[in-house]
Amino acid sequence: SDSQFPVPVKPDEFDWSEHFPVFFPATEPEDNAKDLKVRFADIGCGFGGLIVKLALLFPEKLMVGMELRDKVTEYVKERILALREQYKGQYENITVLRTNAMKYLPNYFEKGQLEKMFFLFPDPHFKEKNHRRRIISTALLAEYAYVMAIGGILYTITDVQELGEWMKSTLDSHPLFEPLTADELEKDVCVELLSTATEEGQKVERNQGTTYRAIYRRIVAPKDP
Ligand code: SAM
Repeated sequence: SDSQFPVPVKPDEFDWSEHFPVFFPATEPEDNAKDLKVRFADIGCGFGGLIVKLALLFPEKLMVGMELRDKVTEYVKERILALREQYKGQYENITVLRTNAMKYLPNYFEKGQLEKMFFLFPDPHFKEKNHRRRIISTALLAEYAYVMAIGGILYTITDVQELGEWMKSTLDSHPLFEPLTADELEKDVCVELLSTATEEGQKVERNQGTTYRAIYRRIVAPKDP
């Protein structure tokens, strides 16, 4: 249950320094220019394939994988430590947290903090009565919008057609998100990784399964000041 992991009461009570020891503290003068806030979150990161890929693509960005399962989280922790050991100076910008991301995001991130959020192959919760447990929902999108920066990008992908259509229509009908254009999708280096970087994505690729993407930008609401 959730009581098995500690949850910060609010974002500034969470100590990220132990997760990113090379980035904290900023002792050198030029280090003060470093962005010490987590900007990317991979929600339900599983075995961590995405953040491992993103680490080298965006070496200056701090990013976190959030995962509910304890053993899987431990695996990702070990994976990151091993990579840091093997490739000195690299993979220092990624970490993993065991948490329930559907409940506690605002405990970890302040308003407007996240530039990218990823939801790769989330659990489908097929039954109608379980749809409220889906990780993309109108209520949760309001929370994601809160922790995201204006202009930030929310990425989703699934191999379950019904879920793909659900995520797309839920995002389409939300006033705080708009879809990226084909041109923007083409230019975004993260898009290709959605289907290739994670363990689940690779499984779907091996089985030549079809995938459904929905990729949206956090926009200013018409009524926002
Ligand atoms: N994104 C990974 C990938 O593409 O390989 C994992 C996909 S797996 C099908 C879904 C993951 O989401 C599982 O590891 C599950 O434990 C995690 N998960 C489900 N609900 C969650 C929640 N509320 N908070 C954090 N992680 C969650």
